[in-house]
Amino acid sequence: MPPCRIAVIGLGEIGLNRHLPVIAAHPGFEIVASAKRHPVATAIGGVQYRDYREMLASEPAIEAVAICTPPDVRGRIALDVIAAGKHVLLEKPPFSTLGAFRQVRLAAERAGVTLLGGWHSQFNLAVERARDFLADQQVASLEMVWNEDVAVYHPDQEWIWQAGGFGVFDAGVNGISILTRILPDPLVVRAATLRIPDGAQTPIAVEIDFAGLREEDRLHAGMDWRTPTAERTIAIVTRSGHHLRMPNSGRRLEIDGTVLVDEANLEYPHIYDRFAELIAGGKSQLDEWPLVVVADAYLIGRTLPADAQGVPGVRTGG
Ligand code: NAP
Repeated sequence: MPPCRIAVIGLGEIGLNRHLPVIAAHPGFEIVASAKRHPVATAIGGVQYRDYREMLASEPAIEAVAICTPPDVRGRIALDVIAAGKHVLLEKPPFSTLGAFRQVRLAAERAGVTLLGGWHSQFNLAVERARDFLADQQVASLEMVWNEDVAVYHPDQEWIWQAGGFGVFDAGVNGISILTRILPDPLVVRAATLRIPDGAQTPIAVEIDFAGLREEDRLHAGMDWRTPTAERTIAIVTRSGHHLRMPNSGRRLEIDGTVLVDEANLEYPHIYDRFAELIAGGKSQLDEWPLVVVADAYLIGRTLPADAQGVPGVRTGG
């Protein structure tokens, strides 16, 4: 099989540093073009375009497109890419609304193209092992901590503070996407608190309580972008007394103190392996539930102010 001719739309932090190197090393893909509104200086990403629509019109040989823009524009771009008959790989979070999610999924079904929602944290081996282990278990307690320093990971990204930009959910939804993949029951928001800095539209810290099957079950997630030391860990206790721990962004799995998986970061190679498989099999894969959790937190969450002093990208008073 010749490699699939792919283009990338959006060459920022993740497009440049993850997608392009993984595509270059993958035998199943060949980069032919890329698009971003302000071109990068070096010759990378195939033929460069400023306007992705011009790219689609000028490069009919493109078979697939990875969309690595911020989420708010991804729905529009995905519909245009699907209308051009290309397979689509979506960075996470795939869209900024549930409506766009369903609109794009239906468009892809009708067009007969593959759609892969790349919740990248779901592509860790530890996640599949945890899912298998929990399949016949019931969860008694859950604690997710997804903390980091926004100044380190998102220094120049104003879009994260604008409506549809997700704020701390941009990172925390990775942990949530692991939970929705491994838990044997739906993850249902019971209460939430969203701390929104003055001048921002999106939260810098979020606490969520989830509804367990029993009243006494305690399921909680916290994500905070004001933490100097990054910690991304999930801990679960089952009703039968098993203890699962997934530190290191869910790449390591410990069950009852035994390490079962401790993997390097292979999320993006795994995503492209899966994309190739799905294209070959004429299938799609797109998990809606992480976005449902974010939407529910916004629907019933209490909003509280947060101090925006020193937070990069927040325009105070805006
Ligand atoms: P970023 O550094 O701000 O890059 C966004 C890119 O999209 C820029 O190259 C921007 O370039 C381009 N873009 C924006 N609107 C566009 C449009 N209409 N047409 C074409 N290109 C457009 O953001 P990022 O960190 O890469 O994040 C992008 C997505 O990846 C987010 O959904 C994020 O959650 C996800 N992600 C990020 C990370 C990470 O570590 N950063 C990790 C995993 C996933 P122009 O302004 O020049 O158009």
